[in-house]
Order: sequence, then C-alpha cells, then structure tokens
Amino acid sequence: MHELAITESIVESVEGRVHGAKVLRVALEIGKLSGVVPDALRACFELCAEGTVMEGAALDIEETPGRARCRDCDAQVELLDTIALCPCGSANLAMLSGNELKIRSVEVV
Ligand SMILES: [Zn+2]
Repeated sequence: MHELAITESIVESVEGRVHGAKVLRVALEIGKLSGVVPDALRACFELCAEGTVMEGAALDIEETPGRARCRDCDAQVELLDTIALCPCGSANLAMLSGNELKIRSVEVV
C-alpha cells in the first residue's frame, strides 16, 4: 500500500517543520490523478501520527481535479482518470494538474 509510505513522508516533513509543537490540523491537497486514495491516507495517518506531535490531529484533504491541455487543438480538458481524450479526438494531452500531493497548511497549538 503506497499510501503508507506517502503518509510517513508527510508526517516526517511536518515534524521537521513544527519543531516539537503539537499539531492540531494538517491540510493536504491531493490531485485526483495522483492515485492516492484519501480514505486510505486517513487510515495510515492515524497509524503514523501515533506517538508523534501529530497524534490526534485533524486531517483535511482537498481533492483537486485533473486538467490537461490538448496539444492538437489547445483546448483545456478535465481529466477524470489518466486515460483521457480531448473532445477533438486527440489523446495528445499535456497534464496541467491532478498529480499534486501537497501539504497546504499545518495548524499548531
Ligand atoms: Zn483537442
């Protein structure tokens, strides 16, 4: 389960920033095309946060939609999964967003 490795790196990077302060809330931005399942991430977060400054912290997850630009007709297309076509029929798409996995904010005591 790759969510576990991702969560571990999130917990590590937050711990490195808060210098021992107790964390109340962590807000994440996850692209719909990143392959990360928010529910799985939540479950892993509870496990990984145990015994750290993040234990009991709330986890806010905002999912960002996938967007791409068609290299043939220059239209912007919303991507629901990684296999997508432009309405013009082209599959020559440049992904603009949807792959993010970012820590947006961390709230400490
Ligand atoms: Zn197109």
